[in-house]
Amino acid sequence: MVDSGGPRRVAVVGAGMVGLSTAWFLQEHGVDVTVFDRAGVAAGASWGNAGWLTPGLATPLPEPAVLKYGVRAVLSPSSPVYVPPSADPRLLRFLGGFARNSTTARWRRAMESLVPINGLALPSFDALVEGGVAAETRDAGAFVAAYRTAAERRVLLEEIEHIRAAGQALEFEALDGDEARKLEPLLSERVGAAIVLRGQRFVDPGRFVHALADAVRARGGEIRTGADVDAMQDGLGGVAVRAGGRVEAFDAAVVASGVWLGELARRFGVRSIVQAGRGYSFSVPVERVPSGPVYLPAQRVACTPLGDRLRVAGMMEFRRPDAALDPRRVRAIVEAARPMLDGAVLDDRRDEWVGRARARGTACR
Ligand SMILES: Cc1cc2nc3c(=O)[nH]c(=O)nc-3n(C[C@H](O)[C@H](O)[C@H](O)COP(=O)(O)OP(=O)(O)OC[C@H]3O[C@@H](n4cnc5c(N)ncnc54)[C@H](O)[C@@H]3O)c2cc1C
Repeated sequence: MVDSGGPRRVAVVGAGMVGLSTAWFLQEHGVDVTVFDRAGVAAGASWGNAGWLTPGLATPLPEPAVLKYGVRAVLSPSSPVYVPPSADPRLLRFLGGFARNSTTARWRRAMESLVPINGLALPSFDALVEGGVAAETRDAGAFVAAYRTAAERRVLLEEIEHIRAAGQALEFEALDGDEARKLEPLLSERVGAAIVLRGQRFVDPGRFVHALADAVRARGGEIRTGADVDAMQDGLGGVAVRAGGRVEAFDAAVVASGVWLGELARRFGVRSIVQAGRGYSFSVPVERVPSGPVYLPAQRVACTPLGDRLRVAGMMEFRRPDAALDPRRVRAIVEAARPMLDGAVLDDRRDEWVGRARARGTACR
């Protein structure tokens, strides 16, 4: 977006991972940045997520297996992917687009577009850390996906084949239950099969994003919190941005407002429906903190070591982004994870959180 003759003063809407890393890299090109957030730094999905930096698993969400699974299970409030029965027409349009995109051919096309982007992911985190962002990314060593049976594991093994066929490098090994427990003692006797992925990393996402905000400020950027951008207008070689009743002119603006993207971007021609895929997380004490993430794909649960606790994240519900935390969803994650983990005190939960990831549907005119 920016070249050497590009904009000098840029507004960035959203102080999450996307907005702040965009601001940081714009600063690398000598751009003066002002970041607006209606709440605060890492107030959206960027705080309580699972913190995985897993380019090997960054794949298009619409795929034939998800569709099959979704149709079977989405209407149950205890299901890991939940669509409320009172779904609004916009959500139904989104789900229609999602279903149409869930074909093998479309998955492959989208995956081929993701491969070069995935290749930039870890080097970009390295650039941030080497450039002064005071946070670390941790090598996952072994990233373990655990299953009750070898039959359950087949879905991911097949997906790995497709991922590799699309050109994405991904090293893995298939283990039986005993081998998996030896590698990761957090896994219970119920685990009968696993896949270990290599070359993936993880972060403490909230800490990383706050460190990124500090770095943006230290390099002269301004971050305005409590600044709700409610209008943007382009013209005369720039963009006027209105926040809190005050209008300011910038050479360009970046909209990085997460799941709320459509509110500002629609009038500039962005027609894709951006739907909140809401997820939940909390942290629990564990007898032994694992050295890397533990993934329970059949339960749709993601576990990440954060300090001396384990962050447990899961679920996807297609609801309004601002709907309140639903404690039934937290209980569903706990009951799904419980049989698979040994030594995680799942009833001693802290930091219960609901956040919204973006899921893109299809162009809708
Ligand atoms: C449970 C869960 C687990 C996840 N796990 C992972 C994972 O392991 N790895 C991974 O890579 N991703 C994961 N994700 C996805 C990841 O969290 C998101 O992709 C990422 O945080 C999106 O960052 P963002 O900056 O686009 O959005 P957000 O972090 O949501 O930031 C958007 C910001 O924009 C602000 N904003 C919105 N509208 C306006 C406005 N009009 N004016 C001013 N400010 C505005 C909001 O206040 C917010 O702070 C997970 C998501 C969830 C929900």
